[in-house]
Amino acid sequence: MKKLLLLYEGKAKRVYSVEDPDLVIVEYKDDATAFNGLKRGTIADKGIVNNKVSNHLFQLLERAGVPTHYVRQLNERETLVRKVEIVPVEVIVRNIAAGSLSKRLGIPEGTKLKSTVLEYCYKNDRLGDPMVNEYHIYAMELATRDELSRISDMSFKVNQILSDYLKDVNIELIDFKLEFGRFKGEIILADEISPDTCRFWDSATGEKLDKDRFRRDLGYVEEAYREVLKRLTGEN
Ligand code: UDP
Repeated sequence: MKKLLLLYEGKAKRVYSVEDPDLVIVEYKDDATAFNGLKRGTIADKGIVNNKVSNHLFQLLERAGVPTHYVRQLNERETLVRKVEIVPVEVIVRNIAAGSLSKRLGIPEGTKLKSTVLEYCYKNDRLGDPMVNEYHIYAMELATRDELSRISDMSFKVNQILSDYLKDVNIELIDFKLEFGRFKGEIILADEISPDTCRFWDSATGEKLDKDRFRRDLGYVEEAYREVLKRLTGEN
């Protein structure tokens, strides 16, 4: 599969066209940003880890009946995926209070939420991905009612599957972000699921195994990303 044109370059990935108009190649970079691009850096081999972790989890979800963009991994940093039109709504799923939820609502980090919280953000870098609700989404025509209903159902299902799976490797799924795309009239799961987009805490020690190590300068960033890959695939 040959890369043709660079279609898009984001903060963590590049997307290339291929001969088949229904597919694209995603290439994962080591670049890391946080706080809406204010903090920048690189995390050695992050692109390799995120590519492998995300593909592992997308395959797990596919087997459990969640339609995704995943087609096949091409090499350590590149994956062939279905070309979607991204729905400009980021979905945040929360099981335990952390990050912006703790700050905004004054709930200490680590507090178990009595029920799962879904949040929607308007995907717009210039505005800093502001939080929106269903009414905004319909009023701005970011997604239809049918699409949002599929998106929320799928988000809860992904949460159930991933939380159960990660528990078995001693990882607590605190929260995560999902993106969805339109493909031939259907909503499918797109983007990535990795230590960049999830909060993973060690079940026993509470140690952070995710991008918070970079955001908060906690050290051992590369090691934490590698540890997640190792627990999921056995690969060092
Ligand atoms: N998240 C993400 N991309 C974003 C915003 C959030 O992947 O643009 C993830 C983040 O890694 C965390 C979850 O969504 O797992 C919730 O993030 P939060 O709203 O607490 O914001 P943060 O504290 O990460 O700024």
